[in-house]
Amino acid sequence: MPHPNNISEILKSHTADLKWQREFYEDLHQHPELSHHEERTAAQIEQKLREFDCELITGIGGFGMAAIFRSDAEGPTVLMRADFDALPITEETGVDFASTNGNMHACGHDMHATALLGACAVIDSLRGQWSGTFIALFQPAEETSDGAKRMIADGLIDKLPRPDVCLAQHVMPGPAGQVQATPGPILAGCDSIRIRIAGRSAHASMPDKSIDPTLIAAMIVVRLQAIVGREVPPGEFFVISVGELHSGDKNNIIPDSAELVLNTRYYDPALAERVYEALHRVVEAECAASASPAKPTFEYFAHGEVTDNDPATALAVREVFDGVFGDKVVDATPATASEDFCYLPQAWGVPYYFWLVGSTPEELLDSPPVNHQSNFIPDYDPTVEASTTAGAAAVLTFLAKS
Ligand SMILES: [Zn+2]
Ligand SMILES: [Zn+2]
Repeated sequence: MPHPNNISEILKSHTADLKWQREFYEDLHQHPELSHHEERTAAQIEQKLREFDCELITGIGGFGMAAIFRSDAEGPTVLMRADFDALPITEETGVDFASTNGNMHACGHDMHATALLGACAVIDSLRGQWSGTFIALFQPAEETSDGAKRMIADGLIDKLPRPDVCLAQHVMPGPAGQVQATPGPILAGCDSIRIRIAGRSAHASMPDKSIDPTLIAAMIVVRLQAIVGREVPPGEFFVISVGELHSGDKNNIIPDSAELVLNTRYYDPALAERVYEALHRVVEAECAASASPAKPTFEYFAHGEVTDNDPATALAVREVFDGVFGDKVVDATPATASEDFCYLPQAWGVPYYFWLVGSTPEELLDSPPVNHQSNFIPDYDPTVEASTTAGAAAVLTFLAKS
């Protein structure tokens, strides 16, 4: 592998003019499209990719596409992925390129796509200085957690050369332009769990004739946090949130059932298994305590894997990041959000590295808008610069000639 300092030098010698990135980003930002509906966004990305010396594969699992950059020398294959879908949020950033269509790039995927295209331009301009194959993969439908899986189901594995390593990044709160990196878990695993509780309906004035599922559900809501507070070891991370609680729809009727929908986050899947055992114990015990007439039911859905960086890959890229970014790269605190990126490297059985890029304007650092908020907007210049450079640097970690 080339010396990290060598990669800093190679990067400085790139001749790509990246001024187009601002207009490209603002255009994507102004025209956000929801998961599975990213037709215009994909067309914009494709148009830009056609300017580079690469082979294009479009329409993978919907609007997904890959650009394959080959050198004339043998070497490893590196894949970097960017997502590009938006969210059903009404934008309140006040920027003059704000969306007006009721959707919003509130997770910064417009920045991810712009940065990966920038990295393509940089790497394309550095031909002769790297060997092997670089694949830029543009993934739709991250926000619905099924974009990566659909690309895989559509034969991604056979359409592309097998990568030796996969890379991705995400903008996050933090000083704009700061690169946040860590080996091991960087994003959480997650599950959603629908629980149905049976009761017995009665007039609200006759509670003794009922089995009140609302009371059972309320006790469960409280007890869930007792699992986290009393059964999860201090120092280990676990979140259970009750996202939905439905019970009854009339003021003077005790209903006959209640439904809770939970969402969990964790870095250790074995801990999640232990928490789910406790969850079943607590829910069944609360139902038994109130003499519920039927067993509660549990439906698990929307599972997301922990994004768990390969230590050796993390070490190699971090050395390069240290050389390129100096004190602008810091040890990341793992984020509690989740991602579907890791399904891509897992499909090939190859290691991966995912890092974060701070995007908060300095004046907002005390209370930064977070991803998925209607006022989330990256500080453009430092964020695009850092995320473009980080992408190119990480790819060159494996491809640069020594
Ligand atoms: Zn998101
Ligand atoms: Zn996102």
